[in-house]
Order: sequence, then structure tokens, then C-alpha cells
Amino acid sequence: MSKYVIIGGSAGGIGAIEAIREVDPIGTLTLISEEKVPQYSRPMISEYVSKEATLDMMKYRDDQFWKNNNVNVLNGRIATKIDFTKKFVKLENGDKISYEKLLIATGGKPFVPRMEGEKKDGFFTFTELSSAEALEAKVTQSKRALVIGGGLIGVSASEALVKRGIKVTLVELKENILSLILDKTASEIAETVLKKSGVTIITGQTVQQIQGKQDDPSTVGRVVMTDGTEIPCDLVVVAIGVIPRTELVKDTSLKLNRGIIVDKLMRTNIPDVYACGDVAEAHDFLINENRLLPLWPLAYNGGRVAGYNM
Ligand SMILES: Cc1cc2nc3c(=O)[nH]c(=O)nc-3n(C[C@H](O)[C@H](O)[C@H](O)COP(=O)(O)OP(=O)(O)OC[C@H]3O[C@@H](n4cnc5c(N)ncnc54)[C@H](O)[C@@H]3O)c2cc1C
Repeated sequence: MSKYVIIGGSAGGIGAIEAIREVDPIGTLTLISEEKVPQYSRPMISEYVSKEATLDMMKYRDDQFWKNNNVNVLNGRIATKIDFTKKFVKLENGDKISYEKLLIATGGKPFVPRMEGEKKDGFFTFTELSSAEALEAKVTQSKRALVIGGGLIGVSASEALVKRGIKVTLVELKENILSLILDKTASEIAETVLKKSGVTIITGQTVQQIQGKQDDPSTVGRVVMTDGTEIPCDLVVVAIGVIPRTELVKDTSLKLNRGIIVDKLMRTNIPDVYACGDVAEAHDFLINENRLLPLWPLAYNGGRVAGYNM
């Protein structure tokens, strides 16, 4: 039995741990994390690919963080089920961890639209360290990349690859890149900067098919755009965005919309169960509604709010 159990040790999980320890220095606290080193800055995976940062430089909290905060860390472990009645979390090896208070901070997973050819070697997503490591390993053997998605993740991936000498084409379905966070004028400024650094930007279109190389059909060789244009490339990076990782609570009584619905104290509809970060739909006081807003500071601060209230 652990007084507090947290699933996910990134921005949200860390925010919660720090807040809990401010008000309860001794309550037992267990962290379940699928990733072996969860405490890295996710936005910095582009610096990892561009070789401007090592994993050590990306660490948001140092390796002593868990020990200093008296956290029982279960790294490399996956929560597979939550029993909200008996109040335990089941792990992939069958172990059960009982809790008094539970925080779900499982973040998001990359959204990959259906497209022909997505299983080919050279196809990547770009949301976590392991995907950045896999992409980085291919960079030296590649000349051209096509990045799908002109949001923060796609722009980060393009920037990283162009810095490694790759010829990058960035494809965005909307008329402007970064359209969720910038108006047209600001977006055009960002486009000018990217183009100056060597990125080709195509807007108002997307990829309909990924084709293999002529001599090796299982490896990415070109994409076919919606208007039929073919663009040769060795790498395809899908960076369209993230969807909340709610698989753990599907078909349970936990209230879900696209993400887990939480109130202003980050409580879910189930007593003693909280959620925060990219997996949660929290209250946005600007629009007076709950919504998904997958941003690092919101995940961290949401974790803090949850931690104080747990
Ligand atoms: C390339 C990139 C660039 C970005 N740029 C910016 C930016 O410029 N500004 C900004 O504000 N935000 C940015 N973001 C978004 C930001 O990184 C996220 O909003 C933030 O990481 C969310 O934190 P989180 O704790 O909710 O979830 P995550 O960081 O997604 O972490 C969730 C953790 O939970 C683990 N987990 C999930 N399910 C389980 C399970 N069943 N069992 C055990 N562990 C599990 C995951 O493995 C992961 O370690 C960017 C993201 C990316 C990928």
C-alpha cells in the first residue's frame, strides 16, 4: 500500500510530487513510469536529434530527485489496469499497487492518421525520447526528410533535422504553420525564419501515401501528396499532435470526453482519483470551459494543483 500513487513521471507527475512533499514529507509515494528516465524535457528531444543536447542536459530534475523526495520509483513498468473500487493499480507483470490517492498523469500519444505505407522503415513519430533516439540513429544515412504537421512538434522536428544537414520539407494541412498558437502575421514570420534555414514549407495539403524505394520497397522512398505531387524522401516524421493516453481508463466509470474530465482541483468524478497534464481536460478560465491544452507549464502546474489537493 502506498499513500500516493502516480502514473507517469514527466511534467505532471513531477509537479505533483513536489507539491505533495511540501505538505506531506513522509507519506509513502510510488511512481509508476513506463519510461526508464521519465524526467526529461520532452520539448528538448529536438535538441537531442540536432545534437545540441545530451540526455543529461535534458533532465528536468536530476537523478537524485526521486531519492530526495522519498519516492518509490517503478521505472520501466506499465500500469495496465486500475480497480477504482478496490483502489489498486495493476502492472504488466501482475503486481498490484494499492493506493489511498491516485494521480493519472499519463500524457499523450502521437496521433498517426491512417495513410498507406506507414509501416515502412524510415517512418517516425516524434513525441518521446525513444522516438528521437530512433530518428537520430537514421540521420547519418539520410538526405531528405518530410515532416507532416506544422505545429510545435513538427516545427521542432524540422529544425532539428535541418541542423543535421537534412533537406526538410514541412507539410501543413492548414494555410499557415503554428496556426493554433499564432495569428497569420506571426505565423508568416515563423515561416520566413524556417525557409531561411533551408526548410521547404507546403501548406494546404497533406500526404496521402508513402511509397518505398525502387530497390527496397520496405524502406521510405517518396510520398505522394493530396494533389498527386511526388516528393522523394528517406524519412517521414509524423508530428500532427498528441491524443490523451486514456487507454488505461477506457470502459471504466471514470468520466471521459477526449481526455479525463477534471474539476478546478484536478479531481476526477471518482473519489481520491486525480488527473493532470496532456491526458486531462482541465478548466480553462479564459473560455470558462474544460479543454485539452497539451503544454508543458500547464501539465506541471496541473500536477502541483493535484498534489496539494491529494
Ligand atoms: C517535440 C515536442 C515539442 C514540444 N514543445 C513544447 C513547447 O515548446 N512548449 C510547451 O509548453 N509544450 C511543448 N510540448 C508539449 C509538452 O512536452 C507536454 O505538454 C508535456 O510533456 C505533458 O506532460 P505530461 O506529464 O502530461 O505527459 P508526458 O510528458 O506525455 O508524460 C507522460 C508519462 O507517462 C508515461 N505513461 C503513460 N502511460 C503509462 C502507463 N500506462 N504506465 C506507466 N507510465 C505511463 C509515459 O511513458 C510518459 O513518461 C512539446 C512536446 C513535444 C513532443
